[in-house]
Amino acid sequence: MDARLVLLPGDGIGPEVVAQAERVLKTVARQFGHAFHFVTCDIGGGAIDRYGTPLPEKTIAECRASQAMLLGAVGGPKWDDPTAKTRPEAGLLGLRKEFDLFANLRPIKPWPQLLGASPLRREIVEGTDILFVRELTGGIYFGDSGRRPHAGGEEAWSTMIYSTPEIERVVRVAAAAARLRRRKVTMVDKANVLEASRLWRQVSAKLMAAEYADLEYEVVLVDAMAMHLLSRPRDFDVVVTENMFGDILTDEASMLPGSLGLLPSASIGSSGPGLYEPIHGSAPTIAGKDIANPLATILAAAMLLRHSLNLEEEAAAVEAAVERVLDQGHRTADIAAGGPSIGTTKMGTLVVEALSG
Ligand code: NAD
Repeated sequence: MDARLVLLPGDGIGPEVVAQAERVLKTVARQFGHAFHFVTCDIGGGAIDRYGTPLPEKTIAECRASQAMLLGAVGGPKWDDPTAKTRPEAGLLGLRKEFDLFANLRPIKPWPQLLGASPLRREIVEGTDILFVRELTGGIYFGDSGRRPHAGGEEAWSTMIYSTPEIERVVRVAAAAARLRRRKVTMVDKANVLEASRLWRQVSAKLMAAEYADLEYEVVLVDAMAMHLLSRPRDFDVVVTENMFGDILTDEASMLPGSLGLLPSASIGSSGPGLYEPIHGSAPTIAGKDIANPLATILAAAMLLRHSLNLEEEAAAVEAAVERVLDQGHRTADIAAGGPSIGTTKMGTLVVEALSG
């Protein structure tokens, strides 16, 4: 297969972890006889420094000409000034909007080898296997916002807004995924308070009854869900929710396996390139030290092979290589629980070797 892949290393630890995923993808190409063409583009804080925008036109054009995009992370203290004209995160949000990547898939399945790294007890976490489907291009992150003078200083507003089709298309993604899993969909909202949530509840219930009556369907309030994730995570299969609730709940759920450094995600639209990334941020305090865990980005590369290139065997080979390295006891500091650890590059090398061996 001939594929054009855009690498978007970004800021902080982004370049370090993407470099390891690139090595893994090159190994896959060699092992399985594919030709992957890599193009590296600017995004985030580095792009603001160089071009004054977190998402330069050149980056958008390269992404449009590609089959898939692999992102590291964006952001950092250098660009945190709340009065700045633009922020690194705007690059990421722009990419999602540009390619209409409305569904973010985040598998949360703790690795048996690492249950000890979870802050929760083994008997709570063991057997958890959740697929979060987070709406990604609507809601409060994209609704009208602004500031105006107020007697006491200023006031500010952000608007959560959703339409019927926006809700339907992402609930369909969740339901279709559930059919291939344990056939249960949990829709999370805040319908006791928010009008936007009441629309979610109405549209989602109608769609599930009309098209997915064969699936188990339940609704849970977001505050209750925050608790259930810590007390009975095994009870959930596919969880679908709006953008901001999904942002928060998936970060909470990411603690179940014990490290942000192990969790990949895929953002997909109806057509065009998909975006693959680790769910962690740019971890500025550990950037440049060769200690970041590259496995989430490597596993994101596996999702890229599976979902955008349809290379299931290759994706499974990468996941098996990661599993073998963990089985051998190798750990980066974030998952070492105070024990001996290896660096970013060494972890990449071990995965490449496991893949080649
Ligand atoms: P973060 O995910 O960068 O870090 C949270 C904690 O996890 C830190 O202790 C960090 O050291 C650790 N960590 C994260 N990834 C790791 C890895 N691969 N290996 C080892 N440890 C890891 O979140 P934060 O500190 O809230 O945000 C830092 C910056 O990243 C901010 O500028 C934020 O806006 C940005 N951010 C970007 C994205 C993205 O690009 N998708 C997502 C979240 C945060």
